[in-house]
Amino acid sequence: MRILLDKFSKSFGSTKVIEDMDLEVGSGEMLALLGPSGCGKSTTLFAVCGIHRPTAGRILFGDRDVTNLPSQERNVGVVFQSYALYPHMTVEENIGFPLMVKRVASADIKKQVADIAGLVHIEDLLARRPAQLSGGQQQRVALARALIRRPDVLLLDEPLANLDAKLRLEMRSEIRRLQKETGITAILVTHDQVEAMSMCDRIAIMKSGEIVQIATPSQMYSDPRTSFVASFLGNPP
Ligand code: ADP
Ligand code: MG
Repeated sequence: MRILLDKFSKSFGSTKVIEDMDLEVGSGEMLALLGPSGCGKSTTLFAVCGIHRPTAGRILFGDRDVTNLPSQERNVGVVFQSYALYPHMTVEENIGFPLMVKRVASADIKKQVADIAGLVHIEDLLARRPAQLSGGQQQRVALARALIRRPDVLLLDEPLANLDAKLRLEMRSEIRRLQKETGITAILVTHDQVEAMSMCDRIAIMKSGEIVQIATPSQMYSDPRTSFVASFLGNPP
């Protein structure tokens, strides 16, 4: 489902973080919001997710205006840097939790959890608790939990930041594979240019609350619009 930000602005008190941002993420596209720490990536993602209400502007999913809808009415799946799995629940219970809240019958939940666990290759971990998993496994569980309600939109905020280098590589291709397989529209927030380049169809480079350039990885690399973009991509002019 297409995501549209129409003149989206967000302030905290008198501090303007984002002003008049226009952004369109095509249906089935994976877009990176890439930029240095503090430029407003998470603020933007939280507004798409429904955690923050915009100060001005609109957010649309398809033709549906979701600007004033709470998170749970938006049908989004979210994965954040800290996995935030429920420590007292098994993997199976963690993944099934969003369905349990919706009072789906337990036999249905079991089946859907099994399906999604297969998709992220954690079928054999369902009886464990989060403390008995590696960081990468925990992140797969978080992904499965985000995907179980078949959301229209997948939102990822630095999902690989806590992983070691080898796992990070593995999870990059894993998340991209899942995104393609499910055809879900996704936004990946990251400050890691290699991650953005290797995982996404397009990259929006942000600086101080603005999108400086938006392009495919190869366009961005060969034709950076500003020296900020060039240096941020590690390709100074
Ligand atoms: P990024 O994710 O790109 O690192 P953020 O979106 O988290 O950046 O933050 C952008 C700016 O907004 C920062 O200056 C941050 O301090 C400020 N900010 C973020 N959330 C809040 C908040 N809840 N209250 C006040 N300021 C905030
Ligand atoms: Mg952030």
